[in-house]
Amino acid sequence: MDTIYDIIKIATNNHKISKQNIINMLSFPIPTDPLTFPLFVTADKTREKHVGNKVHLRALIEFTNHCKQNCLYCGLRRDNKNIIRYRMTPEEIIDHALNTFKGGFETIVLQGGEDPFYNTETLCKIIQSIRTIFPSEINHAITLSIGELSTVAYKKLREAGVNRFLLRIETTNRLLYEKLSPCMDFDNRIRCLKDLKTYKYEVGTGNLIGLPEQTIESIAEDILFFNEINSDMVGIGPFITNPDTPLKDHPSGDFWLVMKVLAITRLLLPNANIPATTSMETKHKNGRMIALQCGANVAMPNVTNPIYKENYKLYPKEHEANSFECIKTMLEKMGRVGM
Ligand code: SAH
Ligand code: SF4
Repeated sequence: MDTIYDIIKIATNNHKISKQNIINMLSFPIPTDPLTFPLFVTADKTREKHVGNKVHLRALIEFTNHCKQNCLYCGLRRDNKNIIRYRMTPEEIIDHALNTFKGGFETIVLQGGEDPFYNTETLCKIIQSIRTIFPSEINHAITLSIGELSTVAYKKLREAGVNRFLLRIETTNRLLYEKLSPCMDFDNRIRCLKDLKTYKYEVGTGNLIGLPEQTIESIAEDILFFNEINSDMVGIGPFITNPDTPLKDHPSGDFWLVMKVLAITRLLLPNANIPATTSMETKHKNGRMIALQCGANVAMPNVTNPIYKENYKLYPKEHEANSFECIKTMLEKMGRVGM
């Protein structure tokens, strides 16, 4: 078997790793001082070499917690009666988006459940209104994260001025995907990602680590999938147990396994944007800071109005230190600059 150093050397030079070697890397034990783990050290260097020391800030606006889907892991699932549902009006969304750009953020992420209240026409009007004030896609990127839409909807939204879209594949194991997301179809998820590529969105995908029945082999296949579709952004996060869901008895994903997936993804996709996510912080008190030392280069301050934010419960929010101020303080401590 190749040593970790052999695998890392090949990966660093060619940005290629075989499935077996990904499995081997995911299985190597982490040392007591985890940040000395060669995979993490190399991923950090690769990040610095290819995307630099700046941390891209993406302001997250959670505009609706209604969802017609029923994913077994998620607190926004339609059958969860234990959350107070809200949706922001189109005017509120426009105002909030404009104020966020005026406040200096260059990217906003509008995220929500799959909520039919916002049909394509309504969404296009929201985007067009924002674009009349902030037309530049380079200085003012608009990202959507609202799940599966029709081909026509993706086309129209792109034309209206959306330039990025986040849609995690969650798991590339078709059977597991369809079991965890009843009513959703794996082929349709792939169709969505292909449409997004066709219409020249910057596409973000990603996965959840620690799902029931998920194997190391299946996680290795997820990583190869990110590479295969040449994802511009990759959001990797631990599954976090939500007591209001059918997976309430399944333990959350392992933090260091998430870090390994992140680091390997950085070696394979050296130029990708990889966020340090809030869910990582839920699993480790310095989760995001560690992620930024294992290959991540993006942070997502949550700028949602607090009256809504507390009800956007994909999973229980215990250590919510994702305000802009918290993130700024963290980056200053690390000597990294947010932009
Ligand atoms: N409805 C959209 C966007 C909102 S959900 C969509 O599904 O794409 C955004 C992400 O939250 C999902 O991609 C999923 O990976 C993550 N998520 C949901 N429930 C979670 C949980 N219990 N633990 C960790 N992440 C979760
Ligand atoms: Fe809805 Fe997204 Fe949650 Fe699935 S993961 S229930 S699509 S909000």
